[in-house]
Amino acid sequence: QERTLVLIKPDGVKGNYTDRIKNTILESGFLILRERTQQLNDETAAKFYAEHSSKGFFSSLVKYMTSGPLIAMVLEKDDAVAAWRGLIGPTDAHVAKVTHPNSIRAMCGLNMEENCVHGSDSPQSAEREISFFFEDLSAG
Ligand code: ATP
Repeated sequence: QERTLVLIKPDGVKGNYTDRIKNTILESGFLILRERTQQLNDETAAKFYAEHSSKGFFSSLVKYMTSGPLIAMVLEKDDAVAAWRGLIGPTDAHVAKVTHPNSIRAMCGLNMEENCVHGSDSPQSAEREISFFFEDLSAG
């Protein structure tokens, strides 16, 4: 069993996609271990996306991620990281609509930035990101 961190980003929450996304999660056989709603501020959003701090889109990304509450969830199943990345589709929702029409980002995303969901990109990132939102959940 593996864990991954999922975010329903502020655009996904505002667009009322939470229930549809959760249904997909449960139908796909994930266990939802934890869930919380949180409003990020500039500092916490910048910390979460620190790997992108030198990118041109960073300030826009921080503004987007702080634009409203998001929902963080810890999912568990075999190969959870890859399984969730497969379900959400490519980063750019425009691309997702063409190449992965049944993906979550095709359903609720708008463009390269507003793509409605996040998924950890490796088991190592998952552990870091899970402790970021759920301080009491340690690795393993
Ligand atoms: P995530 O980490 O959120 O699951 P990802 O791994 O598909 O997304 P990353 O390359 O890690 O994509 O980028 C993190 C987030 O930054 C993206 O999900 C998107 O919201 C935003 N982003 C990425 N590239 C761009 C860009 N070129 N312009 C604007 N926003 C971007």
